[in-house]
Amino acid sequence: MIYPFEPFKIDQRFKDKSFYGPHEGLDLNGPSGGNTDCGTLLKAVCDGEIVLTSEGDKNYGNLLVLYVKGSFGERWVRYAHCERFLVEVGKVKQGQVIATMGRSGNSTTCHLHLDVLKKKPFNWRRYIQNVDDLFEDPLIFLEYKSKEEELVITDQTLIPQIVDPFSGKPMEVQAIRGKIADYEREITHLRRKLDELSNIKPSVASSDQPEGMSNPLPTMVPAKPSFLDQIKRWFTKFIG
Ligand SMILES: [Zn+2]
Repeated sequence: MIYPFEPFKIDQRFKDKSFYGPHEGLDLNGPSGGNTDCGTLLKAVCDGEIVLTSEGDKNYGNLLVLYVKGSFGERWVRYAHCERFLVEVGKVKQGQVIATMGRSGNSTTCHLHLDVLKKKPFNWRRYIQNVDDLFEDPLIFLEYKSKEEELVITDQTLIPQIVDPFSGKPMEVQAIRGKIADYEREITHLRRKLDELSNIKPSVASSDQPEGMSNPLPTMVPAKPSFLDQIKRWFTKFIG
């Protein structure tokens, strides 16, 4: 989930008192306010489908409705007071520019009224008093989803920070797990080899050496974290 535009300042929050009743959405304005932000590009907050582009309502003005569906259920996100629409009904991608900010309808200065409906209303253009039942606080909706998106990592998730050493392309979690298993097998094999070699070593017993002579065998270096350990440490923050 992304914000429809940034940076912004909030002119009116969800359920603030307004002249017509509790405010059912969130009024977003450019940082300088007034009409400085007319024409600001408005983006789709997430993948979805434009189900309505309706012009000239006396209250909501040019009104666009974006239908979205996810683990949170179904939502209808309304963009009101638009200057103009840049898409027609149909599927859109998150971040796609869909309209420009305006002051159409009952609005003195350019701003975006964004609201989030939990149910499909009988009439898109009629104000609904029953704010608690039908609407969700857009700020909570936008924030909640963005956190959720960060946390959902499946076997198919591409991790851009980790690239395949051969193809140089980002790897999926599943492939990373496979690669770790390969390394584990290889390291087990190397450890076994090393143990075999270490077992031969005691035949050159230190007590047999004349005093004062340096040990012909290289001194053992304290064990460093294995390559696998390093990789694991690097991966932990991504795949746990
Ligand atoms: Zn509003």
